[in-house]
Amino acid sequence: MSERQAAILKITSEVLGAAREFLAREGFVELLPVITAPVTDPLRHNTDRAVIEAYGGKWHLTRSMIFHKQAAVRACERIFSFSPNIRLEPSEWGHTGRHLFEFVQLDLEARGATREEVMSLGERLFTYVTERVRASCCRELRELGRELPLFQPPFPRITYREAQARYGEGFEEALSREAETPVWVIDFPIEVREFYDREDPQRPGILLDMDLVYPEGYGEALSGGEREHEPGRILARLRTQGLSPDDYRPLLSLAEKGLPPSAGFGIGIERWVRFLAGLPHVRGTRLFPRVPGELSHL
Ligand code: AMP
Ligand code: MG
Repeated sequence: MSERQAAILKITSEVLGAAREFLAREGFVELLPVITAPVTDPLRHNTDRAVIEAYGGKWHLTRSMIFHKQAAVRACERIFSFSPNIRLEPSEWGHTGRHLFEFVQLDLEARGATREEVMSLGERLFTYVTERVRASCCRELRELGRELPLFQPPFPRITYREAQARYGEGFEEALSREAETPVWVIDFPIEVREFYDREDPQRPGILLDMDLVYPEGYGEALSGGEREHEPGRILARLRTQGLSPDDYRPLLSLAEKGLPPSAGFGIGIERWVRFLAGLPHVRGTRLFPRVPGELSHL
């Protein structure tokens, strides 16, 4: 058991180091993560919020750094962070193999970038890190009995509607099981995503966003897209989703002062390591896993 654990930790460390190296070469600046915030990602599928009270105010434990990334690209053109997220997922999700309630995402954003550009960056980042693990962690992969599949960008693409038609309503698992390389899902319909993904001005109702899905049944790897940055559009999107503009005042105030257009994505580290190491559950990637519905000793 401890040999396996050591191998998984070595792979994790290689992922973090290789990603940092790649992003530094691409001109990205690393930000320290934000842990508490007056406003965080709404994530409408998950209504259970982790909030602490201090100094007469309420502080959300960060569910993603989306708004902070949008604010940060005003200062630096390209930024990333290894961002710890708390998401109180339903207890039943403890069995999906993909969910923790505390996890880390490599969250990045680029000012003025298009979806196409961040998809290309994502493919290069993903391939660089995977090849580094393949080359530097041979012993560890052998210890784990993992034969990592080979793949090369560009990765295939499918639209949300095509994926739905081919694999049914909740297509992620079926698509992932059938895929032999990572595959992009693009063009999500406006009603299934959060308000900050940018609506395509040429195709109302369709978003300029994407997910990357792992092969071999490991499911979603990352989500991202271009962002809504104009105050009027943010307000309209909040309203159609039934969210109170008052709750998003800090974001709206920033947008009124001027948020630049940007695009980016977040890739979950535990899911990445799970895929690379070939593990049945993300819990195996952490020494102190936080699994929905379970208590922990340390
Ligand atoms: P999202 O913006 O919700 O798509 O989250 C970004 C990425 O974080 C996802 O693509 C996953 O890789 C990862 N992620 C999201 N939720 C969880 C979770 N509960 N446990 C582990 N990883 C997660
Ligand atoms: Mg997602």
